[in-house]
Amino acid sequence: MDKLVCDKCGFEITDLEDISLALDGMEAWQEAQRNRGLEPRGVFPCKYNYKCQGEMMLVSEFTRKKKPSKQEK
Ligand SMILES: [Zn+2]
Repeated sequence: MDKLVCDKCGFEITDLEDISLALDGMEAWQEAQRNRGLEPRGVFPCKYNYKCQGEMMLVSEFTRKKKPSKQEK
């Protein structure tokens, strides 16, 4: 299961619907960032971005655990 994690404050989004919503808006947001002369680090601004200046990074649980269990599911 993938999740989004803020690279500054550690806020996590694990809800699949919220993640896919963020991914849907990713390109538009990244382009808006570039138009402002900023290079996007993640896929979306953190919901606490005004405080932490963080961006949400896509993290894959599978690559972290290094043990993808194909039997589950
Ligand atoms: Zn944050």
